[in-house]
Amino acid sequence: MKPFAYVRARTVEEATAAHAGRPGARYLAGGTNLVDLMKLGVETPDTLVDITRLPLDTVEELPDGGLRAGATVRNSDLAAHPLVRARYPAVSRALLSGASAQLRNTATTGGNLLQRTRCPYFQDLTKPCGKRAPGSGCGARDGVHRDHAVLGHSARCIATHPSDLAVALAALDADVELAGPDGERSVPAAEFHRLPGDRPERDTVVAPGELVTAVTLPAATAGLPSAYRKARDRASYAFALVSVAAVLDLAADGTVRRLGLAFGGLAHRPWRARRAEEALRGAPPTAAHVSRALAAELDAAEPLRDNAYKVPLAHRLAADVIAGLAGAPRPS
Ligand SMILES: Cc1cc2nc3c(=O)[nH]c(=O)nc-3n(C[C@H](O)[C@H](O)[C@H](O)COP(=O)(O)OP(=O)(O)OC[C@H]3O[C@@H](n4cnc5c(N)ncnc54)[C@H](O)[C@@H]3O)c2cc1C
Ligand code: SF4
Repeated sequence: MKPFAYVRARTVEEATAAHAGRPGARYLAGGTNLVDLMKLGVETPDTLVDITRLPLDTVEELPDGGLRAGATVRNSDLAAHPLVRARYPAVSRALLSGASAQLRNTATTGGNLLQRTRCPYFQDLTKPCGKRAPGSGCGARDGVHRDHAVLGHSARCIATHPSDLAVALAALDADVELAGPDGERSVPAAEFHRLPGDRPERDTVVAPGELVTAVTLPAATAGLPSAYRKARDRASYAFALVSVAAVLDLAADGTVRRLGLAFGGLAHRPWRARRAEEALRGAPPTAAHVSRALAAELDAAEPLRDNAYKVPLAHRLAADVIAGLAGAPRPS
């Protein structure tokens, strides 16, 4: 591993100041992704800014009934938090479907959103990869791409984003809070990750030196039936082939007042299914309506040689999740 400087920050200001102006700096949270990439030589930071002692490790209820989870809250703590389990079950289920218990005890909210793709070419220095080495090409497009994107990909990159949490946050209209050299801002979780376009090296809209400080879950989706389902190659320790997060608000007459629907495993970012949501608004969530709405969304898919299976899998998984939510008890 290449030598690097190490700074332990005590405040958000100390952390962003230690990072400022150093393109080779990286924030270190749980280290479960960053340190692995450093061992492989994919990440070669010259400075690590340790953020684990920042006062960002609590989950608090907001005055409006929403919830704010600090960036260094551990994945296992967020999943087990009573308010998360009661009000945003999709978040809890998404976290519990990710990694192993040991990893969840170390991994953090912010680090989970900012983890890098698991595309094997990205992790292999001997292979071309424009995300790791801009302009070097894409080994996966004509190579092994069974796990790769079917929506929103580009000629430059077909990688998927691996975070389960990010998918649940996108469906639930959460926001991501950031602090950086130019102050604080908030970004909708559904717009936090980027499509690759011609800049696949940029996974997110995070500006250089910006620190994720928290995620906020809105009161508007609290307590509504929500769910997360993940299809994967084995029962544990596997990233999603396809995952679905959904929150459903039904009117008194049983029609859909609002559906929040996001897919994981299909794109370079959580894929918020706005066309399907729009198609179902005001309609009863019958199998026929749901199927038509999902087809309207998934018709945009452009599968590659070996991953066309993801399209019907996503359709069936989402239909099942929505049917389950439609039959769930309405919040009082
Ligand atoms: C075997 C294995 C299986 C896994 N399975 C899954 C899975 O199924 N689903 C899933 O979602 N994840 C899975 N993971 C990934 C795991 O959840 C991530 O490694 C973890 O969430 C990253 O969090 P961390 O705190 O350790 O981040 P770190 O490794 O410390 O950081 C990751 C990246 O985020 C940056 N960063 C961290 N915190 C901040 C912040 N607050 N602001 C700005 N930048 C920041 C770092 O600089 C780094 O670039 C798996 C990991 C392993 C090793
Ligand atoms: S899909 Fe993206 S991450 Fe994978 S090799 Fe191609 S450019 Fe790299």
